[in-house]
Amino acid sequence: MTNDYTHEKSGYTMTTVAEEAARCLLCHDAPCSKACPADTDPAKFIRSVRFRNVKGAAETIRENNALGAICARVCPTEKYCELACSRSGIDVPIDIGGIQRYVTDFEQQADMKILEKAPANGLKIAIVGSGPAGLQSATTLLEKGYAVDIFEKNTKPGGYLTYGIPEYRLPQNIVDYEIKRITDLGANLHLNTAIGRDITMDQLKADYDSVILAVGASEAKMLPMFDGNAYTETAVDFLARVKDAQGQIDDVPENAVVIGGGDVAMDVATTLKRLGTKNVTDMAYEEFDEFRASKKELAGTREAGVTLVDGYVPTAIDGNQVTFKHRNIDAEMTIKADKIILAIGQAVNTDQLGITTEHGEVSFIGYRTEDPKVYVTGDIAHGDKTVVWAVRKGKEVAEEIDNALMGGNRK
Ligand SMILES: Cc1cc2nc3c(=O)[nH]c(=O)nc-3n(C[C@H](O)[C@H](O)[C@H](O)COP(=O)(O)OP(=O)(O)OC[C@H]3O[C@@H](n4cnc5c(N)ncnc54)[C@H](O)[C@@H]3O)c2cc1C
Ligand code: SF4
Repeated sequence: MTNDYTHEKSGYTMTTVAEEAARCLLCHDAPCSKACPADTDPAKFIRSVRFRNVKGAAETIRENNALGAICARVCPTEKYCELACSRSGIDVPIDIGGIQRYVTDFEQQADMKILEKAPANGLKIAIVGSGPAGLQSATTLLEKGYAVDIFEKNTKPGGYLTYGIPEYRLPQNIVDYEIKRITDLGANLHLNTAIGRDITMDQLKADYDSVILAVGASEAKMLPMFDGNAYTETAVDFLARVKDAQGQIDDVPENAVVIGGGDVAMDVATTLKRLGTKNVTDMAYEEFDEFRASKKELAGTREAGVTLVDGYVPTAIDGNQVTFKHRNIDAEMTIKADKIILAIGQAVNTDQLGITTEHGEVSFIGYRTEDPKVYVTGDIAHGDKTVVWAVRKGKEVAEEIDNALMGGNRK
């Protein structure tokens, strides 16, 4: 059933995608291609679309990015390829994400099989975590002939693709299809299996040639003042619950307060509006000129009718009543709400994994830990915390493992 929460905005048709592709200047040494963190080549796939070669376009995307249909929807293109696009100097940048979505939707409808597994090389790799970084590293390793086992503590694979990004921006059937491609290629998924609890790291290290930790920042942060408050829920718990129920939850609040000024807070606020919450107030620590949320997300929240208040921090809570004080001026505000949602960030849990992180990342640059058998990737490795960066880091860690295990003998 489609409701406001499950409704994704429509994509291009064959005619409108051709019109958009026709605006591309087909730049020599295309700046859009240089600006993609995952090394996708928009200039090349847009050229294929101009010649109505959608299969060729799909090959360009897919051979580079196992999560091409997902990135087409959620990549913050305005800060990567579209920021660099030469067309901006004339009017507006090419809608690279939209064209990529058309191509990957076509690929899915035609059930094209582009990725290929290489003949087995006898080596096997364990990947802890089935988020985008784990999924991409699995794909690159399978393409090189490794056997791959992915261990996931949740009941469903996908990390924040499945349990975070709302359905109206990223339909679950797209995530499921991308994952199926990777399991069809040969990745073995072990769900409901937490490493450190159900299987130890020592065991994994004994059983596999290398182990990749792609555990992300999968736990919500809580402010002590809100701990145990019956009206409070964390953003990631709320978003996971709503996505799992496809928007059919039975406790949609009438009034809600969201605390946080990042993209996750914007997702929560917009989701509440789509579910039917009448009054949604987002209280942000940042002032508008220092907002962390992307312009796209912020605009979406405003469009949905959310009240945004900047520069306030919570100072007290009494039942369902929260008091906030302004950071810089002498001002106080108390709001009563049926639901208080904390979107103040996510934390990494590396218990029993044998590594430490600080501010959500390991302290070294690169992927190999002090233990030569163990690597990190995804959000816990250095670099941006986005899906496209998870794809990049997934490919890079796979390359590094391949170089280490093949002793530089790979042709
Ligand atoms: C609400 C929300 C919206 C977002 N929106 C966007 C967006 O629009 N665009 C964008 O580019 N990025 C977005 N992001 C960020 C993006 O989702 C992350 O950067 C990305 O998912 C990181 O990938 P990852 O593979 O490192 O980790 P994750 O996606 O966090 O996956 C890690 C996986 O490891 C599993 N795991 C953890 N510990 C263990 C263990 N001990 N044993 C087994 N499994 C374990 C977890 O259950 C999880 O499935 C969003 C994030 C959130 C929370
Ligand atoms: S930079 Fe813009 S105009 Fe140039 S090739 Fe890329 S998408 Fe086309």
